[in-house]
Amino acid sequence: MRDYFGGRVGDEVAGKTTIAAEIAAEALRHLVWLADAGVAEVPAPIPSHVHGEPGAPGAVRGAPLATSTPNPTALPTTNGTPAPAPTPPGKPAPAGAYSLSDKGCGSPELLVIREELGECTRCKLAPGRTRLVFGVGNPRAELLFVGEGPGADEDRQGEPFVGRAGQLLTKMIEAMGYRREEVYIANVVKCRPPENRNPEPDEMDACEPFLRAQIRAVGPKAIVALGKIAAQTLLRDPTPISRLRGRWATYEGVRLMPTFHPAYLLRSPEEKKKAWEDLKLVMKALGKEPRR
Ligand code: URA
Repeated sequence: MRDYFGGRVGDEVAGKTTIAAEIAAEALRHLVWLADAGVAEVPAPIPSHVHGEPGAPGAVRGAPLATSTPNPTALPTTNGTPAPAPTPPGKPAPAGAYSLSDKGCGSPELLVIREELGECTRCKLAPGRTRLVFGVGNPRAELLFVGEGPGADEDRQGEPFVGRAGQLLTKMIEAMGYRREEVYIANVVKCRPPENRNPEPDEMDACEPFLRAQIRAVGPKAIVALGKIAAQTLLRDPTPISRLRGRWATYEGVRLMPTFHPAYLLRSPEEKKKAWEDLKLVMKALGKEPRR
């Protein structure tokens, strides 16, 4: 296993939670409620401490209610529970069930998306899951990986790509010169399909808005789509992965490289060479030196 992707398996390092970031998340939640209530503009400027310094861990990108910040109000809200009522101005918003230190929620924007997702029952995968697998990694990653959906290990641990395929993915990431915690990892569907079958179209349709919002929130320079399901779903292109791979495509204005899924590479190690060629194209685009 040291041919193309040899390397140490890294551990996820929990993201830093700062008070400023919690305040920013609270402010963002409040703005979402205002938007839900039909408020199009906020009359007074938000105090600068809410935004944080540009690039600071908790900084909210852009201006409230008219920004490149993902608009979680555009997400499906039919989750069995009505959206919370807007908090009256001046009153603190109620504490959410999720926090910035949760896996994959390390920015205010991602936290709002996670809250909107909630204990999701939007599709028929919900009753079979142990844990919803939102995502993991750097909330401002330049490189974002998209897989298919959680397997048994991911379902148990609530983190994408932690089983055997995940260990290979970690080696692939490290071979590219990144640590696992420097990139962001998510899946097309967030709940485990029964018997590890492929996700069905209605399940992917229910989940994709949240993946799209996550990608917007992270704002990567490049996406790697792992395997047929991720590549075909994101690109809306039924071309086989053997022909999609190795060619740049675009998803929502972001460069996307389809490649083989690590689970396929475990079954067909002779294909690793091609996957490495694909990843080298990504590294070249990101100005990244291989570690080997
Ligand atoms: N395969 C995937 O596509 N995603 C995971 O999270 C794990 C295995």
